Amino acid sequence: MSAFSKMVLRMAVVLCILPGALAGCKASGKESPAAAGQPPFMSAVASAPPQTPDDALPSEKTGGFDGKRAFAHVAKQVSFGPRPSGSEAIAKLQDYIQSELSSYGCKVEADDFHADTPIGRLSMKNIVAKIPGEKPGMIVLATHYDTARSARDPRTGKVHPMPTFVGADDAGSSTGVMLELARSLCAKRERRYGSREMAARLSTSGDIKRIRAFLLADIVGGRNAQFLREASSNPALIDLVWSTAAKLGYTTLFLNGTTSAEDDHDSFMKRGVPAVDVIGDFVNNGYWHTPQDALDKISAKTLAITGHVFLETIKQLQAK
Ligand SMILES: [Zn+2]
Repeated sequence: MSAFSKMVLRMAVVLCILPGALAGCKASGKESPAAAGQPPFMSAVASAPPQTPDDALPSEKTGGFDGKRAFAHVAKQVSFGPRPSGSEAIAKLQDYIQSELSSYGCKVEADDFHADTPIGRLSMKNIVAKIPGEKPGMIVLATHYDTARSARDPRTGKVHPMPTFVGADDAGSSTGVMLELARSLCAKRERRYGSREMAARLSTSGDIKRIRAFLLADIVGGRNAQFLREASSNPALIDLVWSTAAKLGYTTLFLNGTTSAEDDHDSFMKRGVPAVDVIGDFVNNGYWHTPQDALDKISAKTLAITGHVFLETIKQLQAK
């Protein structure tokens, strides 16, 4: 029987459900929908110094994952300005993601839906690329791609309106990593055994029990990024990711301390899906959910390392 691994680029209003983002969204009720549609503070983009991803690891050393390409995806996203749900900028980003995925030969599905948010009903879109595999079950790779509107400070627990920010690391970095993973994975897979057809018939809602692993990336591009074991994640999956990173020599990024994050893996965990959130230390990076989350914070090397660890982890999962 054929099967597939699955890459999900998802977004929802409660996206970036990092500590308190749900409450944060509620607190953003003062924001008008009209304002929500006018987010671009392009001056922030224009004033950013030109970046070169010259610190990227060569792709021969990262399993074929090209950190420079991932960096270019981050730069492209930043060029759209802030990208909250419902904005014109996010519509441009959605077009970009879909056309990139299609250009890699990925089978792309876009699931449009609406969600009631504190600023009104917004149209949203989950973008899904399905990649045939050789064994039963699914591996889901996920990230959100919007920039947040408001948040709760994890240290104080207080909800604050979100300053306008271009979100180079949150969520540009993880989206860039997912796009580059898609390029790598879609290119390597031959389309055969009817698995594409099978994949198309399986929906995330009805076939959730088939998901063997849910790998989430969030805030994965910082120059000084450090990844801590996210406490609510599946312990075996954490061990797999961390041992893979150690094997590849990335122990200075993948540390053994723990952190805690409410994030997109939660809804899968609740349904019994083994999930892991690979998330940078947003609490201490100094720019999370601020206007300082700009392209100058992003390292092509970090992106390459994240991508390499994901690729290797996927290999390990497929070998099981
Ligand atoms: Zn995020």
